[in-house]
Amino acid sequence: MDKLEQSIVLLKQAAAEYSGEVVFACSFGAEDVVLLDILDKQNIDIRVISLDTGRLPQETYDVMEKWRKKSDLNIDIYFPDADAVEAMIKQDGVNLFYDSVEKRKTCCEVRKIQPLKRALSGAKAWVTGLRGEQAGSRVDMQAVEDDKTFGIKKFNPLIMWTEQDVWDYIKSNDVPYNALHDKFYPSIGCAPCTRAISVGEDPRAGRWWWEQDDAVAECGLHANPIKK
Ligand code: SF4
Repeated sequence: MDKLEQSIVLLKQAAAEYSGEVVFACSFGAEDVVLLDILDKQNIDIRVISLDTGRLPQETYDVMEKWRKKSDLNIDIYFPDADAVEAMIKQDGVNLFYDSVEKRKTCCEVRKIQPLKRALSGAKAWVTGLRGEQAGSRVDMQAVEDDKTFGIKKFNPLIMWTEQDVWDYIKSNDVPYNALHDKFYPSIGCAPCTRAISVGEDPRAGRWWWEQDDAVAECGLHANPIKK
């Protein structure tokens, strides 16, 4: 069985074991559009959600819209709580993430974690596009694991895929993807917290790049954070 077939089997397993209670959290990054394409083509019944933090790059909205028009997938978009955003900005300003790691994490909590918790409430499992070869302590990840952050099962169908596998799939299947990937953005998050990387830089060097080298380059969506 090749990697694609293994991924399809795992997604079907998730849909069968957790029928109506499994969620794919899609950021429209390269790995996630591969999973969208597989779900769409294989007609696998897994609910798709995405987080609109309110600070996404236009290119992310553009690919989101391409998928809405192209596929029959019903993608639910979750937003941050308006009162929580207003209170945060009133206290620390719109660009608080540049002031300290603590404030950056507060922003991620309000704009990402809380909406994701709402999206996952009632779910017993979720699906991610994480790959095993992605650097750092994620190397100990499993295809199916207990998610300590959310207390549910976590399926990682692309665990065996390389970056080359992802792009081979995207190109050979003409999959819509985020145009920022063509501008040296391997990892894409919110616009003010993502920059292009240079040749030889770590793929996640463009995320929260102003923080200290030993700062944890994660927003809290996944346990086992990566050190820069
Ligand atoms: S990535 Fe930046 S803008 Fe987005 S939620 Fe985190 S701190 Fe806020």
